[in-house]
Amino acid sequence: MKDAFNNRLEREGKLNFCCLNITNRCMFKCKMCYMWKDAACPDSEAPTFDHWKQFIASFGRFTNGKSCISFTGGEVLMSDKTLELVFYATELGLDTLLNSNAYLIDEDKAKRIHGSGLKKINISLDSLNEDKHDFIRGTPGSYKRVMKAIEYLHKHAVNLYVHINTVIMESNLDDIVALTLWAVKDQRISSIHFQSVAQPFNDIPNDLWYEQKEGSLLWPKDRERIERIFDELIKLKEMYRDKINNPSAQFRIFKSYFNNPRNFVKKYECHMYNDLINVSHFGDIRICNDMPSIGNIKEEGFEMERLWYSPLADAVRENMRKCTKNCTFMVSCSYDEQEIYIK
Ligand code: SF4
Ligand code: SF4
Repeated sequence: MKDAFNNRLEREGKLNFCCLNITNRCMFKCKMCYMWKDAACPDSEAPTFDHWKQFIASFGRFTNGKSCISFTGGEVLMSDKTLELVFYATELGLDTLLNSNAYLIDEDKAKRIHGSGLKKINISLDSLNEDKHDFIRGTPGSYKRVMKAIEYLHKHAVNLYVHINTVIMESNLDDIVALTLWAVKDQRISSIHFQSVAQPFNDIPNDLWYEQKEGSLLWPKDRERIERIFDELIKLKEMYRDKINNPSAQFRIFKSYFNNPRNFVKKYECHMYNDLINVSHFGDIRICNDMPSIGNIKEEGFEMERLWYSPLADAVRENMRKCTKNCTFMVSCSYDEQEIYIK
């Protein structure tokens, strides 16, 4: 039987987004993500094509078809399952989003992306300076591939929403304004979104990571520069409201974060307990990546509804509502304008 909190969850019915980490493989060696340091997940432990399909169908039913499935990795196009799964989700009427470093998008892949019915693609681009983008991404030739991918998608994937995703860090801080101006003026680009750099994904957790040698290469320290560049972004946001996704308030939060990353606790309960779920390349489902998994999509007879109202999921949500972690997720990827931060 559902308790009062679960009844509230049901009434609010907000869960409408899930992130599927189809593979942990990636050909890049990014400075702000150490995914590539992991061994590739063995096929025997990864969910099969049918497991993913079963999950997508169940999630679609649970959200009454009003949800978005985000396909991600690693580099998600390294898995040959991805575009077929996008097609499957699209056929069910779900919104689809794919996050890619664009390295594998040649002319043929752009046509296949179109054929899959994908609605939106997020392409990572950190600078218009070729050497800098390649340095940040640890992969020579990556900038050229992004530019080619944009061309091919424009030619073959008509109506695809092409979105640029940029991580702001020390190495590209001075390039952000030029990149924004290019994105807002180029008709092939639908929008641009910025994230602030955080401790590299997959690194050993350390609250003072940005003071360590590798972290300090990523972390901008010059306050005057930070102030000036975010003020520029706020002005550009006023001029190009539809093409720059971040709200101005988030740019102000980024400024505070770069000035003092140690104290970013939201004032009230974490809003994420009811927003989205994340499925790892092993099939583990998490509401928050720092909390235990609430189940696995490989379980026989998997049903999203049963799992979402399980005692285990309740316990995780309860802990999330009490969480006092200095959570950079709330500043960047899961920023919510309604949130009040102690800063
Ligand atoms: S950020 Fe993306 S492209 Fe870079 S290593 Fe991580 S998964 Fe690969
Ligand atoms: S770590 Fe805490 S604040 Fe961050 S998403 Fe998880 S529960 Fe929410």
